[in-house]
Amino acid sequence: MMDSDTGASTAALLGSDEPPPVELVNTGGHCSAVLVCDHASNRVPRQLGTLGLAAVQLADHIGWDPGAADVARRLSTLLDAPLVLSSYSRLVIDCNRPLRSAGSIAEQSDGVTVPGNCGLSPLERERRINALYRPYHDAIDRLLDGRTRRPSLLLSIHSFTPVLKGRARPWHIGVSHWRDRRLAALMLEALTRSGEFTVGDNAPYPIDADVDYTIPVHGEGRGLPSVMIEIRQDGIQTAAGAAAWAARLAESYRLIEAEALRLLRSSFSVSSSPDPS
Ligand SMILES: [Zn+2]
Repeated sequence: MMDSDTGASTAALLGSDEPPPVELVNTGGHCSAVLVCDHASNRVPRQLGTLGLAAVQLADHIGWDPGAADVARRLSTLLDAPLVLSSYSRLVIDCNRPLRSAGSIAEQSDGVTVPGNCGLSPLERERRINALYRPYHDAIDRLLDGRTRRPSLLLSIHSFTPVLKGRARPWHIGVSHWRDRRLAALMLEALTRSGEFTVGDNAPYPIDADVDYTIPVHGEGRGLPSVMIEIRQDGIQTAAGAAAWAARLAESYRLIEAEALRLLRSSFSVSSSPDPS
């Protein structure tokens, strides 16, 4: 929750003419799917300059998930699903990292040193947490809390670089889960049905509560079936590509929705809840 101290810190980092830390789209959407996009933007608060990086570095996959927001917005429209997007670069503070993780405010990403993140004072760290991280997660909490008359299944939409550390990645799309694999298994089956695509099963990234925040906390932490969708960036770099993947995801979701909703009524016991920070 925002308190007056938080408000003051937010004002200190973001100029009044800069976008708010979180963007809400179609919050009254009727679909059971709730969409979130942790790495939607590569914007950096003006006060932080470029974090010491070249524009081309900020535009690269280390700064954000290129194409992910485009797919998420289209999917929100196709499914009539609410969507929450982060408005600032993951390099300022990563909304999908626990605050205790080294990647929360990364000093290095994919071999690139981020000068603006090196040797930060606890105060500066706190400023970013209060200005960007907390408002984003509070918005997801409020949205999910407010859906008292509708079931919610959580889908986080990401994208991944086609080549990492010199290695080409074979998957067109990946479906990842934390301890509860049930929703991921349904999505995986739906996406592989046509035989056209190589679909990663918990790849390229498995979910780990030491590294990931959104699915462990807002998904499983709430007892919601949840899944992380990762789309390879070369497939969504054009509007046509993003539209095609959004359509495939919408079709897959519709195919499995009834069965996915039954998951809400069946039990999956979570032995211990994650410690978010
Ligand atoms: Zn991402």
